Amino acid sequence: MRGLAKTSRSQGAMELVDLERPTPEPDEALIEVDYAGLCGSDAGIYEFESAFERMELPTVIGHEYTGRVIEAGDDVTNFAVGDRVVERPIRGCGECYQCQIGEENVCQNAVITGVDHDGAYAGHVSVPETALHPVPDDVEPKHAALVEPTSIGARAVIENSRVSPGDRVMVAGPGPIGQLTAQIARAQGGEVVLAGVGQDAEYRLPLAEELGFETINIEDDDLDARRDELTDGVGYDVVFDTTGHPSGLPMAVEEVRKGGQIVLVGQTGETTMPYSPLVRAEIDLQCSYASMYEDFERSLRLIASGDVDHATFLDDRFSLLEADEAFETFLAGGTCKPVFDASVLRD
Ligand SMILES: [Zn+2]
Ligand SMILES: [Zn+2]
Repeated sequence: MRGLAKTSRSQGAMELVDLERPTPEPDEALIEVDYAGLCGSDAGIYEFESAFERMELPTVIGHEYTGRVIEAGDDVTNFAVGDRVVERPIRGCGECYQCQIGEENVCQNAVITGVDHDGAYAGHVSVPETALHPVPDDVEPKHAALVEPTSIGARAVIENSRVSPGDRVMVAGPGPIGQLTAQIARAQGGEVVLAGVGQDAEYRLPLAEELGFETINIEDDDLDARRDELTDGVGYDVVFDTTGHPSGLPMAVEEVRKGGQIVLVGQTGETTMPYSPLVRAEIDLQCSYASMYEDFERSLRLIASGDVDHATFLDDRFSLLEADEAFETFLAGGTCKPVFDASVLRD
């Protein structure tokens, strides 16, 4: 089989490499990968941002995917050949304080599939059964590939926000996590607007509109006027920052109402801003990171119910055989969530 690997410490440098099909350890299952999504962090590896300097190369990337069990190690008890699965790609160590108290998403020794060990842009992948999650029959394979990013939005909204029916909600950043967060906030009863920048006008803001959202292009629209119009001059009850940009938090502070909540989902790096207005308005600043078992469960149900519309959301125009095109288009904002057919890597 082949795999798409990061091969050197520079921009781009993704190559198709020949690999032995992995042999599962006793506690692992061998998965035939059906579909895999392209995540913002995969684009970060393509760019080779500093967060990925720890990677040992070459490493096959890809962490959001679905497939079928085709072989199970002797100690595997909860999965059998033929089962459809997804992986929870952030693996807690099971031993640190956070893991002991049920906070595996912030484990002190977490390892991530497709970063710290070979991932799913390959024909097959071998996975410990403790990291696998069953996929119900009513979720299509191409949609199941996107359970992992959906679970990030589910955690941000359902676990970590106070979005309630009738709330006015802004999601800053119409990238993959923003579009998913928006759909789940709407499923919770929020009236949601998605905000983007100039580059988003080509694909991502129109996608948000196709998904039924009001949108704001902060480079063209009068942000204050739109806020006053959409919130009767009060400001949004909850603002999610999924931009991953240093301007996201200062903008959220401008947009949220007094007594409202800001949920930080994107990783924005450094920003400098006056904090006194946050204190004087009693703004609740909440972070949300990664996801856990229950977030996967909820995501599978939200996809099955149609509350999260993956048929509209995903973009299957690209091939793993010419993945650079997908990465470059993603980085230019010309797509939002590419989903690859991984079977092309099996021959
Ligand atoms: Zn991801
Ligand atoms: Zn741990």
